Amino acid sequence: MYVEVILQRRLPRNFPTLTYEVPKGMKVKQGQIIQVPFGKQEVGALVLRTSAEKPKFQTKTVSAVTDVFLPPRQFAFAVWMSTHYKVQPHTTFQFFIPKQVWKDALKGKIRAESETAQEPEFSQKKAIPKALADFLSKFFIHTDSGSTVHTIFEQTRIDREKFYSAIVQRTQHMEPEGQVLFLVPEKFHAEYLSFGLPVFHGTLAETKKATLWHGVAAGKIRALIGTRAALLLPFKKLSCIVLDFAEHESYTEQRSPYYKTQEIAEQLAQQYGCPLISLSSAPNVESWHRSHPSQFTWQEPAAKIPTTIIDMEQERKKGNRSLFSEYLLAEMNKRFIQDEQILLVMNRVGSANALFCTDCNSVFRCATCLMPFGLRAGVLRCDRCRRTAQMPEGCPGCGNVELKALGFGTEKIEAELTQRFAKARILRLDRDTMQGASARRQALSQKKLEAADIIVATQVIHKPLVLKRLTLGAALYPDQLLQFPDFRASERAFQFLTRVRHLISNNGEFIIQSLMPDHEIYQKIALNTAEEFYESEIEARRMLSLPPFQK
Ligand SMILES: [Zn+2]
Ligand SMILES: [Zn+2]
Repeated sequence: MYVEVILQRRLPRNFPTLTYEVPKGMKVKQGQIIQVPFGKQEVGALVLRTSAEKPKFQTKTVSAVTDVFLPPRQFAFAVWMSTHYKVQPHTTFQFFIPKQVWKDALKGKIRAESETAQEPEFSQKKAIPKALADFLSKFFIHTDSGSTVHTIFEQTRIDREKFYSAIVQRTQHMEPEGQVLFLVPEKFHAEYLSFGLPVFHGTLAETKKATLWHGVAAGKIRALIGTRAALLLPFKKLSCIVLDFAEHESYTEQRSPYYKTQEIAEQLAQQYGCPLISLSSAPNVESWHRSHPSQFTWQEPAAKIPTTIIDMEQERKKGNRSLFSEYLLAEMNKRFIQDEQILLVMNRVGSANALFCTDCNSVFRCATCLMPFGLRAGVLRCDRCRRTAQMPEGCPGCGNVELKALGFGTEKIEAELTQRFAKARILRLDRDTMQGASARRQALSQKKLEAADIIVATQVIHKPLVLKRLTLGAALYPDQLLQFPDFRASERAFQFLTRVRHLISNNGEFIIQSLMPDHEIYQKIALNTAEEFYESEIEARRMLSLPPFQK
């Protein structure tokens, strides 16, 4: 018998696999780790396929076999990934077998934490509301057509511990030996939301990875939380995959193969014939269209966060020169005195501005889209339609010749805040203060976030953090998001604002300050009519043949 293998080390591109002869009496199967001679060395190899046919060229002989192998389903999954993303098998398989597993296998050592199965132990036992249990039962209906994909639209924040333990209970009820995989975007989430479950991510110590790998392969680990790297673990009997915070940017792999987590999670669910449940507070339009999450809206009994839209042009006309509306300032004062936390978001640093008349306080707008013009290098410019106009001589409304561009950058906001809230602990999070990985980690440490009275942030804050004191959130100038000349502009704005609002505690409030207060996106957010937003967006894209309707 002969085997075609890849080596643990990378082989030249035009020569990616090798063939060896299997000595009589030795048993070898697909997916197995074996030892083969290579040059003057003995190296690890993984069996891709076996064949009875003698190749036309000379072959060396397999030196030894190990009892470590990639289970058939996981093997098929790796092959699918290589084909689908058009990469060499080696590139894919290296992610499926951690380095330490190779090393140990060749030494004949298996790392296992315990001999017995680890039943998932949630650190806190929480009662699962009957409504939630009933809701979840919809996802665990056996079908003959393989896996089922569901999207849960999380309108108000779901208690993760309750939700996760309900999923585990439900799975074990259906399949006592079944395994559950909870996927989260980043290591940070995995650690924060583990509730006592084992945690798997790409930067774990190699020995820890190996231990978990074997625990999962043996079926001893019944529930696990991890980043996308955990999808490649050798599950014995995967019974449910939960993809949490499904809209998160981190779900796209940054190195080859550049896989999308949602896509390969679906494929894996298919392999195991198990449900994939994705959970999102702001699903993208494509996945809404595919799975109609409106049927699967779960709401905690708590009330929705009320949303107020403030017309900032009117504010100036009333004589308010501040970057904050009177209403927002009053709310901020109130919350600050009560020792509650305030989050102010901007979607970009720097040069955002709008041109105002200093007398009647009218704002200058593009005649086509009615969006405020931005002023750059003496020229008025509409970001949406790219129309430009010369700086006007004076205000067409009142004839005043003094016009002024007002900026909305985070630095400016921080300066005004320091003045008004001298005693507040202000935390500024933007690209300038978060350069470099360690600054990023520091800025986002839970402790630091919890300690701040006022957080001023750009997009980077949009992580599903739990900030218990956070009761007031405000988007100061989200209009910019709607000004992008891109068909996804309204989708992004909708997701951005929805996710910010999602961070606010249940008794809190959300405020949008805008120069376009009547814009339908703001209105739909304020009225909590997400379904309408998705339906009209899908309709518009259908008419224009935009994704997901491309020909
Ligand atoms: Zn004027
Ligand atoms: Zn325009």
